[in-house]
Amino acid sequence: MEHFVVSARKYRPQHFNTVVGQSHITTTLKNAILQQHLAHAFLFCGPRGVGKTTCARILAKTINCENLTAEGEACDQCASCQSFNKGTSFSVHELDAASNNSVDDIRELIEQVRFSPQAGKYKIYIIDEVHMLSTSAFNAFLKTLEEPPAHAIFILATTEKHKILPTILSRCQIFDFKRITPNDIVEHLQEIAVKEKIDAEASALQVIAQKSDGCMRDALSILDKIVSFTNGHLTYANTLEHLNLLDEDHFFRLLEMLEQEDLPAVLNLYKEIDEKGFEGDMVLNLLSEFFRNLLVSRDPRSLSMLQVVEGFRNRYIAAAASLSTAYIIGSLNILNEAELGFKQARNKKLHVEFHLIRLTYLKQAITLVEEDTTGKKKRLDELRAVSFRTISMREMKKQEPKLFIQETKTKSSKAEISVPTPAATNPAVANPSPVNPSPLNQKNEMPEPTSGPGLGALKKIREQMQHRKQDLTVAEPITQERLQEAWEKYLQKLLDNNQVSSQSNLRMAVLTILTENMFEVLSFSKIQMQFIENERVGLLIHIQEFFKNTTIQFKLVLDPSAEVETTKPEQSMTLRDQYLKMVSLYPNIKELRDQLNLDLDY
Ligand SMILES: [Zn+2]
Repeated sequence: MEHFVVSARKYRPQHFNTVVGQSHITTTLKNAILQQHLAHAFLFCGPRGVGKTTCARILAKTINCENLTAEGEACDQCASCQSFNKGTSFSVHELDAASNNSVDDIRELIEQVRFSPQAGKYKIYIIDEVHMLSTSAFNAFLKTLEEPPAHAIFILATTEKHKILPTILSRCQIFDFKRITPNDIVEHLQEIAVKEKIDAEASALQVIAQKSDGCMRDALSILDKIVSFTNGHLTYANTLEHLNLLDEDHFFRLLEMLEQEDLPAVLNLYKEIDEKGFEGDMVLNLLSEFFRNLLVSRDPRSLSMLQVVEGFRNRYIAAAASLSTAYIIGSLNILNEAELGFKQARNKKLHVEFHLIRLTYLKQAITLVEEDTTGKKKRLDELRAVSFRTISMREMKKQEPKLFIQETKTKSSKAEISVPTPAATNPAVANPSPVNPSPLNQKNEMPEPTSGPGLGALKKIREQMQHRKQDLTVAEPITQERLQEAWEKYLQKLLDNNQVSSQSNLRMAVLTILTENMFEVLSFSKIQMQFIENERVGLLIHIQEFFKNTTIQFKLVLDPSAEVETTKPEQSMTLRDQYLKMVSLYPNIKELRDQLNLDLDY
C-alpha cells in the first residue's frame, strides 16, 4: 500500500486537460500558447492546493515543447519534454520564495536571466510564494520584470495576492485560481480509486471532498491516509471515523426530536455525541451548518449552495419542506448566541444543553408570538423577540402550581383563587411530572422535560379558569350547618388521601362564623394549629369552591388555655402523658401498639 502515500505526487497532472477544476485558466493558457501571445510574467493567485504550482510547471513544459499537439498540450516525447519530466531541464528554474527571500537570492536569479537558454526557446522562472520576498528583494526584482530579456518568462505564484506590490501586479498577467468544487474533487478521487483498485463508497469520497474544503492536495492526502488505514476499503462510516466527523444522521434524528419537543431524547442524543469526543463548540458549529443547509434547501434558487453528501441531499430537501423559515432562522439565532457565549461559559456541557433546550421549545415560542399578534405573522427580523420569557410564563402556568400555592400561603390574599386546584382544572397538574434534578432546573426558564400538552393545554387552562370565575360568581351564604358540611367533606378528602393525622387534628377544631365571608378556626394546641396551617391553602380553595365565594377567608386561633399546656416543657410530662398525647396526634400509634400487642413501659 506504500504507493498510495504519494498519490498526490503520482497523480499530479502532467497536462492542462488533466488539471481539475481550473478550466477557465487552462483554456486561456493553451490558447495563448497556440497563438504565441505569451506574456513575460504570469501571476497565479488562489488558495493553497488548488493547482497553481502544477499549472506553472505544465505551462513551463508546454512553452518549451518542440512538438505541441493541436490542442496546445505538451507532447511528452521531444527532448525538452523528456528532460523536463526527468527534472533535468536547464531551462526551468524553480525558486521557493518562502525559504529564499533575500536580495541575494533574487540577484543570483537575475544574473542567470541574462543568459539565453541552452535548449528550448525560453528560460522559465517559477517563483512560488512570491509574497514572501522581502521588500528589497521585490525592488531588485522589479527592474528585471520591467524589461525582461525576450527569452525569459516568469511565473509567480501566491496565496496572498494582496501582499504583492501594485508595481509587480501591473506587470503580470493575473490568473485567479478557484477553490475546487467538491464535485470535481469527488470525480478526481473516483478516477484514482479506479486506477488504484480502491474500493470506495461514493459517500466516503464526498465526505473527503467536503473535508478538504476545495484543496485537492488535502483531499489526496486524506485519501492516502484512509486507504492505508482501511486497507483500501473506504466506507462512509470508517471515513467519518478517521476524519473524526459527526454523521449528519445525528442531526436529522435531533431535528425529529426537536419537532416532537422530546427533551429527554434531545439531551440523550447530545450525551451520545459528547461521549464520542466531540467538543461542544464543534457540535454547535455543525448544528448551525445543519440549519444553514436546511435553509438553503427550502428554495430551489439557493439549493446549489447545499453541499452535502449525495445521500443526504433529498433528506435535507424533505426536512426543510416541513419547517417554517421562521423556525430555521430562530434556530440559527439560538445557535449563534450559543456559539458566541461558549467561551465565557464555565460549564460548557451545560451551556450546550441549555441552548438545546431552547431549541426544543422554539416552535412553541414562535406559535405563541404568532398567536399573540392576532393572526398577524411577525416579520422574520423580529424573531429575536421570541424571548424565553414567553416559554417560561407558559410553563409556569402550566406545570408549577406548587409555586403559586407557596405564594398564597404567605400572602393569603384574594389572589389565592387563581390557584388551580389539583385535578380540578388541569390534567397536567393532576400528574405533575417529577421535578428534574438537573441543575438546569435552577432557572425558571427550564421547561419540564415532558412531551407536555402544548398550546392546546394552555388554551384549555384559560377556558377552565374562565369557567371557574363564572361559577364562583353565584355565591352561597355561609351558615354553620353548611360550613360543618364543607369541613366534613374536606376531612373525608384527607382520609381518602391517607392523611390520618391531619384529619384527626382538623376534626378537633371548632368553627365559628364571624362575618358573611369570615370564620374562625379554633384549635387547642400549637401542634394541632400547625396541622391546620399546613392545610390552609387546600382548605381555603375547598371552602371557597363549596360556597362558590372567592372572598371567604378564615383565621386560625389558638385556644388561650392551650398556650400554658403546650408551653410547659415536654420533660415534665409523664411517659403516660406523652404516650397519650402521641396517640391523640397519631392514632396509628395506638393501632400499632394493639396489633403488635406491645406493653408500654410506664
Ligand atoms: Zn514536447
